[in-house]
Amino acid sequence: MTAIHTRALVLFSGGQDSTTCLAHALQRFEHVETLGFDYGQRHHIELDARLVVLQQLREQFAPWRARLGEDHLLDVAVLGQVSETSLTRDMAFEMESSGLPNTFVPGRNLLFLTLAAALAYRRGLQVLVTGVCETDFSGYPDCRDDTMKAMQIALSLGMDRRLLIDTPLMWIDKAETWALAHTLGQKSGVAGGGQALVDLIVEHTHTCYLGDRTHRHAWGYGCGSCPACELRARGWAGFVAASPV
Ligand code: ZN
Repeated sequence: MTAIHTRALVLFSGGQDSTTCLAHALQRFEHVETLGFDYGQRHHIELDARLVVLQQLREQFAPWRARLGEDHLLDVAVLGQVSETSLTRDMAFEMESSGLPNTFVPGRNLLFLTLAAALAYRRGLQVLVTGVCETDFSGYPDCRDDTMKAMQIALSLGMDRRLLIDTPLMWIDKAETWALAHTLGQKSGVAGGGQALVDLIVEHTHTCYLGDRTHRHAWGYGCGSCPACELRARGWAGFVAASPV
């Protein structure tokens, strides 16, 4: 990217992926703001995790502190009016016959990106950074690479301002996402920053669909058996196996 892309907005949920994306953005851009969505999650744990992660990044990574700007939280409770899913209602998580998990809200990510672009426009931010990933198990169609490219064009045209959508995790798996965090922490210039960022993500990010913060595993907190926990645990195992330490 050229130097004209200096200001970024990270779609930041407080999970492993978006925290890694935030570290990527802090390493790459001069000014970084964060955006979260409150869509009536059954568990407020994710929203709490966001604030703890931001605080920990500020405390532990001095070179990034000055770059980390405003945090935004948008209420998207309207999603509850258009979709019944296990994230917004008291339903059990399961896979549907379509092959998608019942957490899927059709087009949710399209809405999120559109809101992010509107905010970025107002804040003078040129890049949207998002942790969407095609190697993820879930196969959300609104997270695919082609969808991101189409959105980048649609949003740039519709707002008459060039906007980039940066997807650092698109083609890597969860083990490589842990490794990326380690590399970014090292590049931060903080002594022991690689391990520090991995430790921060283990301890403070939240991924579990059930909102479990009571069971602590080597890879962090979670129920250990929902698809999000299984994915995180499997990625961690792959990362540890590939690590020289
Ligand atoms: Zn879980």
